[in-house]
Amino acid sequence: MKGGSKTKVIKEIKVDISKCTGCRSCEMACSAFHAVPRYSSLNPSRSRIRVYMDEVRDLYVPIRAGGYTQSECNGRNLYVINGKEYSECAFCPASCPSRDYFKEPDSGLPLKCDMCEDETSSSEPMCVVACKFDALTYEEREEPMQENEVPAIEKQVELKVAYESLVKKHGTKKLMETFFQLSKN
Ligand code: SF4
Ligand code: SF4
Repeated sequence: MKGGSKTKVIKEIKVDISKCTGCRSCEMACSAFHAVPRYSSLNPSRSRIRVYMDEVRDLYVPIRAGGYTQSECNGRNLYVINGKEYSECAFCPASCPSRDYFKEPDSGLPLKCDMCEDETSSSEPMCVVACKFDALTYEEREEPMQENEVPAIEKQVELKVAYESLVKKHGTKKLMETFFQLSKN
């Protein structure tokens, strides 16, 4: 750290597609870890990582859930892997209205990878721990923070305070109904 300047920790899950066997242990581990109560169920449709599988072409690609997008985008990527083309949305991490991926199956609310941040008993995210083929590996590095950048932990505290005040004002049920409606728009 230079001259007292602040740093942030960048967390990275490196994906080595050539090692992925499509076993889906990562999906199981993520869904169990995020079940309520924790580890009470195994349901890959609740996982924040999904494995794109093309068994004919022998291709397996683990993709972690990214941000929620309110509307389907009109920009598309076309992937060519080993000379074979893959559909434009196949590897997209977004929770998007045009498909069912990365949505909580009961509520329809978007799912996003949180890097298992509230797990203190493991130094690695659950999907990485579950992957026995080293297709997923975890790394951390420090980077200097931009001027005026708010540390992630402070943002979380701000969000928690805002959420608690909304619950106090409107009640959990009303709030969840509103989130559900927003996720459908
Ligand atoms: S890091 Fe945690 S939340 Fe993200 S996909 Fe892996 S197990 Fe799920
Ligand atoms: S646990 Fe590892 S090898 Fe199995 S599907 Fe997930 S990333 Fe691939």
